[in-house]
Amino acid sequence: MTTRLGTAAVIAIALLALACGGGHATTTTLSVVTSTTIVEDLVKQVGGDRVSVTGIVPLRADVHTYRITPSDIDQTLEADLLVIVGGGLSAIEGFLADGAEGPVLELTHDMDLGPFPEALAHADEDAHDEHDDEGEDGHHGHDHGEFDPHFWMDIDLAIHAVEAIRDELARLDPDGADYYRERTGAYVAELREVDAEIREQLAGLPGERRYLVTFHDAFGYFADRYGLTILGFVVESPEEQPSASAITELVESIAELGIRFIFSEPQFSARAIEQIAADTDTTVRAIPSVALAEEYPTYVEFLRAIANGIAE
Ligand SMILES: [Zn+2]
Repeated sequence: MTTRLGTAAVIAIALLALACGGGHATTTTLSVVTSTTIVEDLVKQVGGDRVSVTGIVPLRADVHTYRITPSDIDQTLEADLLVIVGGGLSAIEGFLADGAEGPVLELTHDMDLGPFPEALAHADEDAHDEHDDEGEDGHHGHDHGEFDPHFWMDIDLAIHAVEAIRDELARLDPDGADYYRERTGAYVAELREVDAEIREQLAGLPGERRYLVTFHDAFGYFADRYGLTILGFVVESPEEQPSASAITELVESIAELGIRFIFSEPQFSARAIEQIAADTDTTVRAIPSVALAEEYPTYVEFLRAIANGIAE
């Protein structure tokens, strides 16, 4: 919009803003603490200059296993808002939520989450487990129930999260409501474009490239969305130790299907995946699953890094 304004008009508006005592055209009005780096980015995309965002889990670190510090708790206590994934993603989110004095926005709270995927290589095991009453966290190591909390692997769910962030920021800072709405609109349009690009990029992959073997069970939504199949994973949740039987099953299935690429996740040990690669003569590629990093500092770049890792 500013491109259509003349320079003089821009200066006049800037002077007006100064005259009104603001000093800046936009002033920060809310402080928000977030758990994961992806949630941090989503809040920044919506909040822009009106919101200061502090992410608890640093770049490259993993929310499942990160240990919170007393200063993390202090920052959470002082924040106007805490935004977490929820859905039993990790214990540290629970600690943060317990420590928060202000409101807590749990992004998966009213999200239409799906179940964890049926992994092809573990099909027998899954059938066996299905009616096995192991209690709440028997099937998957994340201490949630039956639903997959990795919502950021599905752009529609991410858009739902972005809209929930927009609504909560507008509730806490009504003067910024229009600002948050405009930023959300532009960002959602960008996400839809990225979604279409990834769909096109992955559509042309040959059959044997359409299987995912990963370290942990995080890619169900991504596979569903883009027509890939979860062949299997080494652990259901990163807190677990790799199981020898899961590895044996994967080695057999990989050989049968003629798969050439399998995937490690940068936050986790690649040892088990490398072991499988050595046993199957496949190549290991790293694709991100839970955390942003210097090479992909935004959610959009994170999604592209997954697609490129699979497709290139
Ligand atoms: Zn996970």
